[in-house]
Amino acid sequence: WLRGSSALTQVITTLPEVITGLAASERAAELLEERPAVADGPHAPALAVTDGRVAFEHVSFAYPGRASRPVLDGFDLTIRPGQTTALVGPSGAGKSTVAQLLLRFFDPVDGRVTIDGHDLRDVTQASVRAAVGVVFQDSVLLSGSLARNLRLARPTATDEEIEHALHEANAWEFVRTWDDGIHTELGERGVTLSGGQRQRLAIARVMLKDPAIVVLDEATSALDAASERLVLGALDRLLAGRTSLVIAHRVTTIRDADQIVVVERGRVGDIGTHASLLQSSATYRSYYREQAVA
Ligand code: ADP
Ligand code: MG
Repeated sequence: WLRGSSALTQVITTLPEVITGLAASERAAELLEERPAVADGPHAPALAVTDGRVAFEHVSFAYPGRASRPVLDGFDLTIRPGQTTALVGPSGAGKSTVAQLLLRFFDPVDGRVTIDGHDLRDVTQASVRAAVGVVFQDSVLLSGSLARNLRLARPTATDEEIEHALHEANAWEFVRTWDDGIHTELGERGVTLSGGQRQRLAIARVMLKDPAIVVLDEATSALDAASERLVLGALDRLLAGRTSLVIAHRVTTIRDADQIVVVERGRVGDIGTHASLLQSSATYRSYYREQAVA
């Protein structure tokens, strides 16, 4: 169920990029209007990202139609520009919901989410999605050539820029072996990709997009150890210099984060670095031990 819903979320995230790729067709306008949950104000400006500072200010949230089940409850968090914050905690604690609010799939019921001080409710959703790149657990690639898939992130990208992004994402090593290189067809009639290859192509897509802020939601969870290593190398390069929110169930992915937050029932529990939480947080320690034996 969770994997299905993250794939769906991903299609929705990619949608504005797909629409950009299709130019402003009437169908695109219809799709935009059909999107539920949040609406832009009539004169909402685009978000102007300066430093990439992210703040959740006492955010409370329940999913539409489930008002009696608050998922976030006074959630407070600041991510400084260029720094990495990792969220850990049990399944259902609200970690992915935090990511969804940063992408403005939903608006908070109370409190606010800001980027560089701008309340996300006051700016267009499209400009928020342009500022935030995301890699989910199971990346969705559309049928069509690899180049076409990657240009959804930046329609004007040259072949050289695409190749460079693939290098950075540790993907060039397999793409270069394909007869048609970046023009190879993906999907049902094209090459079959392993999970690790799909994730590296998804990372290349975000590299090309070059957002100030990056969200990773269990981006390596579906991978075996060998392909996880390759993906982690690519993720290191993706996160460098960007503000990032990393949700992970493996400690290897979060140990180096500037700040680790233990999310408990929609609230910020213990918070610190890996070293300080091992000292101060029984919850984190037991979480770490579980991982160490897993
Ligand atoms: P985590 O990522 O920490 O596992 P989530 O943020 O996905 O937790 O979920 C928190 C709670 O919100 C869970 O009880 C989950 O069932 C519920 N939830 C998640 N997504 C939705 C949704 N789209 N609609 C309704 N409830 C949801
Ligand atoms: Mg989740």
